[in-house]
Amino acid sequence: MSIIRSLVLVSADPYSLQRGSMEVFETIRQELHRRELADEVEVRLARDLGRHDIAPMVIVYPEAVVYGPVMPEDVPFLIEEHLYKGRIAPGLQVPVREISGRIAWVTARKGTLPAQQPILLSRAGKIDPENIEDYLIHDGYLALGKALTGKTPDEVIDEIKKSGLQGRGGAGFPTGLKWGFVRRAEGDKKYVICNADESEPGTFKDRVLLEGDPHAIIEAMTIAGYAVGADEGYIYIRGEYRLAQERFGIALDQARAYGFLGKDIFGSGFKFDIHMHSGAGAYICGEETALIESIEGKRGEPRPRPPYPTTNGLWGAPTLVNNVETLANVPHILRNGWQWYHRFGTPNSAGTKLYTILGNVNTTGVIEVPMGITLREVISIYAGGMKDGARFKLAQTGGSSGSIVPSSLQDTPMDFESFRKAGVSLGSGALLICDENTCVIDLARVLLNFFRKESCGKCAPCRVGTQRAYFILTRISEGIGRFEDLATLETLYKGLYQLSNCGLGNTAGVPLQGILTHYRAEVEAHIRNKVCPTGICSMSGALVAAEPVFH
Ligand code: SF4
Repeated sequence: MSIIRSLVLVSADPYSLQRGSMEVFETIRQELHRRELADEVEVRLARDLGRHDIAPMVIVYPEAVVYGPVMPEDVPFLIEEHLYKGRIAPGLQVPVREISGRIAWVTARKGTLPAQQPILLSRAGKIDPENIEDYLIHDGYLALGKALTGKTPDEVIDEIKKSGLQGRGGAGFPTGLKWGFVRRAEGDKKYVICNADESEPGTFKDRVLLEGDPHAIIEAMTIAGYAVGADEGYIYIRGEYRLAQERFGIALDQARAYGFLGKDIFGSGFKFDIHMHSGAGAYICGEETALIESIEGKRGEPRPRPPYPTTNGLWGAPTLVNNVETLANVPHILRNGWQWYHRFGTPNSAGTKLYTILGNVNTTGVIEVPMGITLREVISIYAGGMKDGARFKLAQTGGSSGSIVPSSLQDTPMDFESFRKAGVSLGSGALLICDENTCVIDLARVLLNFFRKESCGKCAPCRVGTQRAYFILTRISEGIGRFEDLATLETLYKGLYQLSNCGLGNTAGVPLQGILTHYRAEVEAHIRNKVCPTGICSMSGALVAAEPVFH
């Protein structure tokens, strides 16, 4: 059996088609046959690779070299040079400085592992996280000094706004805008909270930052405190993250001893200190208002919004709540300037993003990549391809409540805007990659089981809706589903989205909606034929068909 060593993508968006990308595609196929390379090199059409001005575009993996515009007459030379002789075809490659951040990164990293060029993870794993001096010789607290001695709070906020940094916790809200809200909110007392309650199943990027580079988060929180006018901060760390808590505690003591926390930091007259709070295992406490209730010593239940924490947060005071990864960007932006930050990512989603890759791929773990990279790139370059040569079926982005990304969106740039336009969301950064052997009913059932257990029970649409959806999915997986169940499931996910009190309920039905939209035929096969196409569901009919009344 031959092994595919290269993948060639040809852009097939309307611009490319108009400029002859189908001819390019066909010529590549013919040329590969002529050179007897067809068994080793796969060639595919990709819906949109971006940069329409250099269409038709061709990207050759695993090197991820970008060529464009490529005409049919260029193809023999390109194949000869790149796929036969193994070198970049001169004259056809798009120069790095002319291309977008995401592709510039891909090209620039040619021949190196992506993990060798990180920004947020640049120190994690390289420095001793329990030694502040190690942090200091790697530019530690330089950004804080720069902010406190050379910028007004408004200038700091302006720098963050211009950088285009968007919240990495899932919502993608502009960070500088949020900082501005808290700064302008009335009140003598203000707080900064770092949300480190990373409970989304499959997500562990914040843990890597906290364990590997805790001072970066302390520095970022202190800068945020200066910018918004807060003198106290809290970090709420997931209870299971014992090592992260231990290291963060050590880092706090060291920062106080060196004068980076406390009174009159850098002689600026600014004072700030941070308290560490451990979560107790409730998923809902990742929701910012439930987290605030929890810090206040109450049961972790979300508050109705508005008012928002920016004006009525911790103990009623204006409060800035930012995720760990969001904050980790701040010292880099302050140190290097907002213009530098725009070198990474796409025009509307600047910077890099941490993803945790898991599922049916050869390599799992945390990666840092520029915003705008595609799922196909992540799988082929970073995850080492699909496990056992199986076909890609879907990805779930952002954890249990994340969107279902079908294979038709594999070439959509993973940035806030492109994903929003495609009707999916980026979420917090988990990438669950599923192969063709995954049953969508089984997947939906596992996810709904999670939500029915984690629902805090405060409001009926979520408390009852998740239970009912789970029951119906179980019935379908047992081979006793009915066609009316599909309409009921649709009503349930709409109700969850529209009527639930907080983000948990609002998003609990998102994957279910995606599955019913993109994999309807597979769901219907369970009902009509009483067959699970992947053979995962038991179809045993063991469940009692009558639906219980949920309260
Ligand atoms: Fe609780 Fe769910 Fe209602 Fe949120 S939506 S308040 S988690 S019951």
